[in-house]
Amino acid sequence: MCGIVGMVGNADVVKDTVRGIVSLEYRGYDSFGLSVLREDDSLHVVKDVGSVSLAAERRAFDVLGQSPVAIAHTRWATHGSVSQRNAHPHVSADGRTAVAHNGVVENHHELRRELLRKGVTFTSETDTEVIAHLVSVHIASGCSLLEAVAATVPLLEGEYAFVVMSAGDPGRICGARRKSPLAVGWADGHAVVASDQLAIGLTCDRGMYLQDGDVVLVEPGAARIYTVQPNGIALAQREWVRIDSRADQISKDGYRHFMEKETHEAPDVVAKILELPAQLMRDALGPDPGAQINITGAGSAFYAAQLAQYVFAKLARTYVIAHPSDEMPNVKSFGPHDWLVGISQSGETFDTLEVARLAKASGAGVTSVANVRGSSLDRVADVCVPQCAGAEVCVLSTKSIVAQVAIAIRLAMERGLANGSLSESEHRRLGESLERLPHTLRKILTELAPRIREVGEKYNFIEHWFFIGRGLCYPVALESALKFKEVSYIHAEGMPAGFFKHGTISLIDDGFYTIAFLPSRTAEADLFKVTLANISEISARGGRVLAFGPAGATEDDLEGICEYVALPYHDDVTDSIQLLLAGQLFAYYCAVSLNREIDKPRALAKSVTVR
Ligand code: GLU
Repeated sequence: MCGIVGMVGNADVVKDTVRGIVSLEYRGYDSFGLSVLREDDSLHVVKDVGSVSLAAERRAFDVLGQSPVAIAHTRWATHGSVSQRNAHPHVSADGRTAVAHNGVVENHHELRRELLRKGVTFTSETDTEVIAHLVSVHIASGCSLLEAVAATVPLLEGEYAFVVMSAGDPGRICGARRKSPLAVGWADGHAVVASDQLAIGLTCDRGMYLQDGDVVLVEPGAARIYTVQPNGIALAQREWVRIDSRADQISKDGYRHFMEKETHEAPDVVAKILELPAQLMRDALGPDPGAQINITGAGSAFYAAQLAQYVFAKLARTYVIAHPSDEMPNVKSFGPHDWLVGISQSGETFDTLEVARLAKASGAGVTSVANVRGSSLDRVADVCVPQCAGAEVCVLSTKSIVAQVAIAIRLAMERGLANGSLSESEHRRLGESLERLPHTLRKILTELAPRIREVGEKYNFIEHWFFIGRGLCYPVALESALKFKEVSYIHAEGMPAGFFKHGTISLIDDGFYTIAFLPSRTAEADLFKVTLANISEISARGGRVLAFGPAGATEDDLEGICEYVALPYHDDVTDSIQLLLAGQLFAYYCAVSLNREIDKPRALAKSVTVR
């Protein structure tokens, strides 16, 4: 989490640094800061709580004047409250060195105690501040900035990406990474270090992501990468790639919010996924048809993994293990007979990366399903399946979840065809259904969105919700509840409809509402009926139920349902994608009517790069 930008140039870099950090606000936004090193080597900082883009709008950084060296940060607090003094950059006790950090220094208590013993005074509660003091102590003892960072890095435990500048070695910025992303780029007359290529692409046309253990030193027009070794530092040879500016993709295109724009991009994303070659789908599950397939992800990506589990059961009669990546190492030992599919929008999700590294180290094959090409997950993986969703700016995943589930369907279709679970004609029929899906999703976005909006607005005062479903509708319910609570700040709990009566139903009263996700009336007739039975159990106890389900439901079916949104089902696994989109729209409209922070809900960040 958190965004970092460091920039050096032959001329003023403050404006571009501000643009860069604003482009990374999706990574954390509880507080922000920017520091500059002026030509007279004096260090100045502006930092505060709140949003960096609003600060930029009110020209909060103008007081810093012009400077050829700047570092900036937008924070997602892990250690220390959200306050001005805990905002980054953190400055060393002598006021000459400043650092902006992403990640967690796990041994910060120990390092802090040692520094306190040496008489260093701390001004914040963060784990980060130790880095500023350590680098500054080394510079004071005669090291260059690069040598000071190289000497500091082995002292730090945990995961980090950070940038440092110092009046003791002006005109340069040094960056280092371990398990948190850091990219570097350069162009004529300046260079940038940042946590995402998005900020690099604003001003540079060449760049790369650093590797774990790298230290980078940037100067105007130059960037050198080093690896820290026991006997010193060595220059590393790395390949620079062309960076495409993604600035054009970060406009709202007339929509009110990125969330609205990105839900409307779902049809195009599905169309792009259909263009991925079938051979890639076959390769993505590894060469051994008998290997145990495991799928993991965190947050929404885990629910996509769970949907994949159901899709594989249906289309390929294969039990795949789906487990959230933060818990997977506690239940799964990988070996050469395993194949892991890791799902992450950013490809930088810490927990998912850890599972991928663990699987790899244990001899398993790994496939990355990431939206950012060349991400850390891509680099760990044997096979990379691109999510093809394009830049997703809203902190909530919408089109990327649609992409992940569409990919899961394609993977399961190929496996099902290969192992004889799907006949050629069933495979072809599903392929046609996927081809039709963009059109159907467009229909939902145009014809059904007003109805979903009406329901979302009408019930926005309800404080407690259950979201329930069976079969594929169960992970749909979990994901839709997550989306709803993330953006509306209203309590919603997703659960299997059948589980409800085993305890949870005791909460039902006339203030506790339920949303039921109903499967196809024909293709899933049995699940349809039992979900209706669960709905009756709730309404019999005074609970009110809203439902999303197939068109053609009868009056009897709808007994006990106070609002029904009928979707144009294809009567196959792609219906789950229709439901996901409907759930996203419901969450969106309800939250808009409550005036919530849609694209940057409180306490969240898009790319969860800490444990
Ligand atoms: N651990 C640091 C802090 O709490 C950095 C958090 C981040 O990655 O945003 O300030």
